[in-house]
Amino acid sequence: TDQSKIRNFSIIAHIDHGKSTLSDRLIELCGAVEQRQMESQLLDNMDLEKERGITIKARAVRLDYRAEDGNTYALNLIDTPGHVDFNYEVSRSLAACEGAVLIVDASQGIEAQTLANTYLAMEHDLEILPVINKIDLPAADPKRVKEEIENILALPAEDAPEISAKQGINISAVLEDIVQNIPAPQGNPSAPLKALIFDSQYDPYVGVVVYFRVMEGTLKKGMQVRMMASGASYQVLDCGYLRPLGMDSCQELTAGEVGWFTASIKNVKDTRVGDTITGAEVPAAAPLPGYRPAQPMVYCGIYTEDGSKYPDLRDALEKLQLNDASLSFEPESSIALGFGFRCGFLGMLHMEIIQERLEREFDLDLVTTLPSVIYEVTKTDGTVVRVDNPHNYPDPGSISEAREPYAKVSIISPPDYVGNIMPMCQDRRGVFKDMQYLDTNLVELHYSMPIGEIIYDFFDALKARTKGYASLDYELEGYEKSDLVKVDLLLNGDQVDALSFIVHREKAYGRARRICEKLKENIPRQLFEVPVQAAIGGKIIARETVKAMRKDVLAKCYGGDITRKKKLLEKQKEGKKKMRTLGTVQLPTEAFMAVLKLD
Ligand code: GDP
Ligand code: MG
Repeated sequence: TDQSKIRNFSIIAHIDHGKSTLSDRLIELCGAVEQRQMESQLLDNMDLEKERGITIKARAVRLDYRAEDGNTYALNLIDTPGHVDFNYEVSRSLAACEGAVLIVDASQGIEAQTLANTYLAMEHDLEILPVINKIDLPAADPKRVKEEIENILALPAEDAPEISAKQGINISAVLEDIVQNIPAPQGNPSAPLKALIFDSQYDPYVGVVVYFRVMEGTLKKGMQVRMMASGASYQVLDCGYLRPLGMDSCQELTAGEVGWFTASIKNVKDTRVGDTITGAEVPAAAPLPGYRPAQPMVYCGIYTEDGSKYPDLRDALEKLQLNDASLSFEPESSIALGFGFRCGFLGMLHMEIIQERLEREFDLDLVTTLPSVIYEVTKTDGTVVRVDNPHNYPDPGSISEAREPYAKVSIISPPDYVGNIMPMCQDRRGVFKDMQYLDTNLVELHYSMPIGEIIYDFFDALKARTKGYASLDYELEGYEKSDLVKVDLLLNGDQVDALSFIVHREKAYGRARRICEKLKENIPRQLFEVPVQAAIGGKIIARETVKAMRKDVLAKCYGGDITRKKKLLEKQKEGKKKMRTLGTVQLPTEAFMAVLKLD
């Protein structure tokens, strides 16, 4: 394709401002899909994504648009994930583009992710085209939103298209804007190959499908390629363009083009997002900038309710990992829960998505442990250990310094809520950095906050305290010295390893007491009295008691109806199956989960 007739762009927006809806409209208007074939939100093609209304994996699509100037342009729309957990993938997708369409909801105006994503696009020197969406809403105020864009983002917005993606109003203005104002790609088609991987996806029939943008040179069918970071080398079996309803094959893709290739690759680990594809025979001198391996931030133990399903869990995790290089897992065992895996995730949403997929797509009933971050401990002998499982926390006597991860947090909110936000951040050990007025009706607060405090319900609590107006963005900042303790839970004197947690000393007492109360509520009365205790080292810091109760099911059977007795006994046995024996105490799985879902 003639480079001057190519436009590579992303759509960026705060969540729910209409990115997916506009993508669908663009696809529709370019005639790529018949109206009746138009399944809603084509780019979000996983069921889970549809249900949650989010885009988990980046995708791309090539559209042919006949512009008002009479020329036909190839528009490569690269979709980006819409959540803070997937910020790195967003950055790689943006690096594959020359421009970005910035959607702002005409009734909401600029929100945290609008800013965060715009700054990202600016960092990649993209041409940013603001678009005002949802003008059909009664609360729409396009004039005010345009002023916000000019004042806060310093982007010219006077001529920004005012559209309704939902009702299909003024969509062609967006397409003309793209053709006229986003620069065509550059790059020499005969230079050594340099192509950026912005996504990859495992397919059981053809292996990994690698999505890439050619920056320099040409990728040809049959050619031997090498991923510069992973070192993996493959022969390109097939390559082509991405179409809304599948893939077109072609002989080669030249500088500026966006497409896919396959090479019977077994695992996405070989084709990491951000890696550079080059030719094995005439390699590029240096890879493209910006590659970094995905780094899990949150860990938890995942076990099956039924211990015999352990191999199924392993298979399921392996399958999910084929498609998700940022998911990590290692076998671990727990006295309380048996054999399972310690899994690492980019963030809480990523964790929830994986748990949900395991349960839904692989039909597993899971028990998970409390999520934890990675702590760093310098021991008295000078060695440094990284602890992702509270169970492995070193003995307090052997610790010289403990550190926990901190995040740089940005909260954007109308000024009215600042009085609610600040105490909440303080309570979570946030260190206030600064506060700036972005506009008369919008402030941005910066905090440095332990990630361990964010991963619980911080986002939900923030929304609740600001009527949903505040938004949150955060990134790993580094490790800071911290006064950490490990709290153990004891049932009837026996320590339950799966319930141990690491927490800041100041928070230990409150958290311990809440967990003890919750356990007391959820443990059915047993034949004996059960003390529920929390301890630091050997020292008990909280205690509750579950009173004893004799529960004899056969007492209800007067006389000798043997079949009835049998049924009752069977019923009791079934009830027992769902119990987890924790030391000498039996705990229903539901109770266990209620405790783990505390906060
Ligand atoms: P995304 O999170 O940015 O991908 O947003 P979606 O495209 O999923 O849209 C979020 C919600 O806003 C959905 O319920 C859409 O139907 C709705 N929406 C999108 N565009 C418009 C619009 O122009 N007008 C109205 N009224 N609603 C819209
Ligand atoms: Mg979407």
